[in-house]
Amino acid sequence: MADLVWPRQCGGCESTRSRWCARCAAIVRDALVAGPQRVQPDPCPPGFPPTWSSVSYDGPIAHALKAYKDGGRADLLGPLSQLLRTALAGALDAPPLRGHLVRGGAVLIVPAPSRPAAYRKRGRHPLLDLARAAAPELPIVDALRFGRGVRDQAGLDAWSRATNLRDAVGLRRSVAGAWVLLVDDVVTTGATLVESRRALLAGGAVGVSAATVAVTRRRASSEPFTPRATLA
Ligand SMILES: [Zn+2]
Repeated sequence: MADLVWPRQCGGCESTRSRWCARCAAIVRDALVAGPQRVQPDPCPPGFPPTWSSVSYDGPIAHALKAYKDGGRADLLGPLSQLLRTALAGALDAPPLRGHLVRGGAVLIVPAPSRPAAYRKRGRHPLLDLARAAAPELPIVDALRFGRGVRDQAGLDAWSRATNLRDAVGLRRSVAGAWVLLVDDVVTTGATLVESRRALLAGGAVGVSAATVAVTRRRASSEPFTPRATLA
């Protein structure tokens, strides 16, 4: 992690000119101009909610998200929350959520669940902070939690992710009567969003949409699957 907390490194590309360089800022600016995209994993799991995202999960964006969440780079909140805000706008402006809002319905922003061990290790709640910065005008409830025994999803394939999470997401706050707009940093196989949606609907949410900063683009199928390092 030492390389991620080096004070003068760019959080996206590790150049030493600044903590967020002009080249990485341009990637964010281009994504904001392009606007939100409706995204879904391939294959798309049953129960995957309508989801919007801002940018591909690779290069400087992937590096910045890891550095923000696990490398102590809270200063990257600004550009990352701008990307999330764009994805949230996509979800809010399109059916089915827009119809719900037009009818006067309530919406709640809910961060995807984190593992309890991850909270303790980090001493902060990066996803909740990101959601607050992205949508300060909307109510945010940290309503979801992982049960015990859930492993880190990093490095697991689609089947293992789905099995790892099955019935593992629970509610700790009421969401009854509201449309929940789920927030996560990245959508990969969709397992976390599917299980979160299941728990939210079981808890009385009238609908679930989702917004993520980034979306994993599938590489060509001839390329071997390379798991990312599992976080301690
Ligand atoms: Zn950079």
